Amino acid sequence: MSAQRQASLPFALPDIGEDEIDAVVAAMRTGWVTTGPRAREFETSFADMIGGGVEAVAVNSATAGLHLALEALGVGPGDKVLVPAWTFTATAEVVRYVGAEVELVDVDPATLNIDLEHASSLVDERTKVLLPVHFAGLPVSAAALAGWKQRHPHVRVVEDAAHAFPAASEGVPVGAGASDVVVFSFYATKTIATGEGGMLVTRDPEVARRARVMRLHGIDRDAFNRYRSDRPAWRYDVVAPGYKYNLTDTAAAMGLVQLRRAEEMRARREVIALRYLRAFSDLPVEMPATGADDLGGLHAWHLFVLRLEASRDRDRFISALADLGIGTSVHFIPLHMLTYWRGERGPSLDEQLPVATREFKRVVSLPIYSRMTDGELSRVMDAVRQVLR
Ligand SMILES: *Cc1c(COP(=O)(O)O)cnc(C)c1O
Repeated sequence: MSAQRQASLPFALPDIGEDEIDAVVAAMRTGWVTTGPRAREFETSFADMIGGGVEAVAVNSATAGLHLALEALGVGPGDKVLVPAWTFTATAEVVRYVGAEVELVDVDPATLNIDLEHASSLVDERTKVLLPVHFAGLPVSAAALAGWKQRHPHVRVVEDAAHAFPAASEGVPVGAGASDVVVFSFYATKTIATGEGGMLVTRDPEVARRARVMRLHGIDRDAFNRYRSDRPAWRYDVVAPGYKYNLTDTAAAMGLVQLRRAEEMRARREVIALRYLRAFSDLPVEMPATGADDLGGLHAWHLFVLRLEASRDRDRFISALADLGIGTSVHFIPLHMLTYWRGERGPSLDEQLPVATREFKRVVSLPIYSRMTDGELSRVMDAVRQVLR
């Protein structure tokens, strides 16, 4: 080990420039720091970028957006929601918020995205929602999702697109497909960041309306205003015990700049991914699926997930990289390996979810973010090659 060790390279880093800082300061100078004109502009700009006539509802996290989506679709006790085991706990916890049951689905070994055939085999009359995740930013095929929805007309589809902005499959931007609701995340480590934040996108005006009401205490100004034209500005009605899920204008100010830079930042992550793919092609590792066979595809490259040989100790690989100053992570610890989701059904879940159970032992996520310099990229590539050789 060299005497002057270089500073550790973080696993993730938001790309915040002077424009974001100026925009947030300008928002603060207006004195309007909570939800206001910038949050509305962020919604409109985001919806325009997705296209396809969608409406966008800004919220303070993707978790909040997913919760609002299930609430607006009327999911409740007795209902079942199909969730891939290969995701973050937020995808599944919102199902419990509304009192419904989580049914875990295995993943496709090539992409680690939801296995739609396995999902089909689990559908029964109580199944209300399918909740696919576009893992790492590689979209689940829009055509496959639309086809699945047609085969199961009583099941609604809500996409967890926390990793997938901007992304597209078969020329369809994630957010503009046939699903009922799509939810994006602007958490600090995500592809565009507002610190905390999210966006619910839908083409269903009733879902958008309900989400707008429920994101702010269940306050409905239209419900009161409908009956009178001379309504005073202070007057409102409350139609349900709603939530406090609104996005602030300071966050939206940052989001508007990130939105303008989204494709430039994605392109840089793609360059990093392509360099990794080339640098590791002769090593005993499995590379992530790139979606290169999808002509109208666009990978968001939120994560770059290597898979080691089954015989290699993944945890030792991670500590060896840490010793060389390289931060890594694991996406994901499958839900059925976490106490709450494992519950009493543990061993049977291992059997029901063989791919997630097996692949967990071999995955490691390498640093991939737009602020990474070529020098830092070389450091990661050298370190991985050194440890694996
Ligand atoms: C980050 C993440 C979420 C939650 O996003 P928040 O904005 O932090 O609520 C949900 N699902 C997946 C797959 C995620 O990675």
